[in-house]
Amino acid sequence: MKSGWEIVIGLETHVQLATSSKIFSSSSTLFGSKPNKQANEIDMALPGSMPSLNSKAVEYAIKFGLAVGATISKNSVFERKHYFYPDLPKGYQISQFRNPIIKNGSISFCIDGEEKEVKLIQAHLEEDAGKSLHKNYNSGIDLNRAGVPLLEIVTEPIMRSAKEAYMYAKTLHNLVVWLGICDGNLQEGSFRCDANVSVRRSGSTTLGTRTEIKNLNSFRFLEKAIIFESNRQTQLIEDGGYVIQETRLYDSENDETRSMRTKESATDYRYFPDPDLQILNISNEYIEKLKNMPELPSNKRKRFESNYYISREESLQMTINIQTSEYFESVVKLIPKNSGKIAANFISQELSTLMNRDNKKISDIKITSNILALLINRVIDGSISNKNAKYVLSIMWEKDQYDIDRIIKEEGLDQIKDVSIIIEMIDSVISDNKHVVMEYLSGKEKAFNSLVGKVMKTSNGRINPSNINTILNERIEIFKKLDSYNTKSC
Ligand code: ADP
Ligand code: MG
Repeated sequence: MKSGWEIVIGLETHVQLATSSKIFSSSSTLFGSKPNKQANEIDMALPGSMPSLNSKAVEYAIKFGLAVGATISKNSVFERKHYFYPDLPKGYQISQFRNPIIKNGSISFCIDGEEKEVKLIQAHLEEDAGKSLHKNYNSGIDLNRAGVPLLEIVTEPIMRSAKEAYMYAKTLHNLVVWLGICDGNLQEGSFRCDANVSVRRSGSTTLGTRTEIKNLNSFRFLEKAIIFESNRQTQLIEDGGYVIQETRLYDSENDETRSMRTKESATDYRYFPDPDLQILNISNEYIEKLKNMPELPSNKRKRFESNYYISREESLQMTINIQTSEYFESVVKLIPKNSGKIAANFISQELSTLMNRDNKKISDIKITSNILALLINRVIDGSISNKNAKYVLSIMWEKDQYDIDRIIKEEGLDQIKDVSIIIEMIDSVISDNKHVVMEYLSGKEKAFNSLVGKVMKTSNGRINPSNINTILNERIEIFKKLDSYNTKSC
């Protein structure tokens, strides 16, 4: 961001809830069937049809509310939000406005080593709209999506960079998938973000006029759209213009946002309570029952940090999804308790690089938690170096062979324990690098590390670093004595 300016971002995320039927009708929510095969009289808004609320959607919304520490409304209200659009045959969308089911709550994540808490304003239940389809100059309406339950999660205007928005969206995505309330499929539109963006001069306390970039269904596009839009607004104001409150779309091919329409205000929607639906009363007993759910990522993080001595950043990586957290925990149960960091490191770096490259999920890799634990134990018991263990991991992956001890043997990676061999190697490094030894002896501490590096290289990482330090020190002492003896005798 240009210096002297600050970006302000608030996100509205539409999360499709993973119920098998729609929010107000019994039609299936399955994605991808032929147009209008999953639209009944309620979804098509035939006269006289009446909505009836799907309790599963309510259950999922409450689960979300509990997971983000929100207040669950005991008497929320469904309202009609009026607007005209061909894919909305009723002429209104059933949504919540004045009294949403979820209020407040927050979502936290780590960014550049610091924890950031994004406060939520609310999360409300509503129905998805249909879709307009265009083919050969003809247009048609597909109402299969009409009535799919949505939970719209709205943040305060609290984020200050595109990266923060990216991290928030990713964390939220992980959470709803973790809770099992959304399938998280971005391509199929199960998770769509609208980004509200404004800019203001640094130090200003009032909000600038915002624009809203609609329907971003990729984390990268979300980030890029915000960067483009904030730069556009800053330039516009610096050139003497002003921002118009409007809805924009992001064109990923040209990496730019374009105006779609000026934004309606709440009064234009003429909200009023839907007379076809009752007030949604929720009892304390029901909420209590739902509290019994899988351990939440936030809780798991805290537990991992204190039980396995890993950092915040590492615990965030280990709870990126439920499968990773389970994999990590089964590894650490098989290695010494204070070695959690090594496990986190292997999983978030080597393993995750290989998984990303080959497009694999942690649940379908062949390096099971047992295998990784054995490899880590080989590092801990001093059989191989950490570096060589990473090499063994890559061999297992590439060659589809999982006998660790055999690989160590075949590749000659086991640690050299014979001190006479270590001394021989160190002495040869000393004699080949006398000038470096002299630099060290004349007070240049760093020269020592360079010698350690050379010994590591000569031994192909097969000597334990602490052994190198001790023996190298001893051998340099001897070299010093010999050298001064030689100098004197000349
Ligand atoms: P609307 O009713 O038009 O949808 P809301 O008040 O519900 O507007 O806000 C929608 C989203 O826009 C929220 O996430 C909020 O944080 C964000 N927002 C509101 N004003 C601004 C602003 N000036 N800059 C950035 N985001 C904003
Ligand atoms: Mg809104």
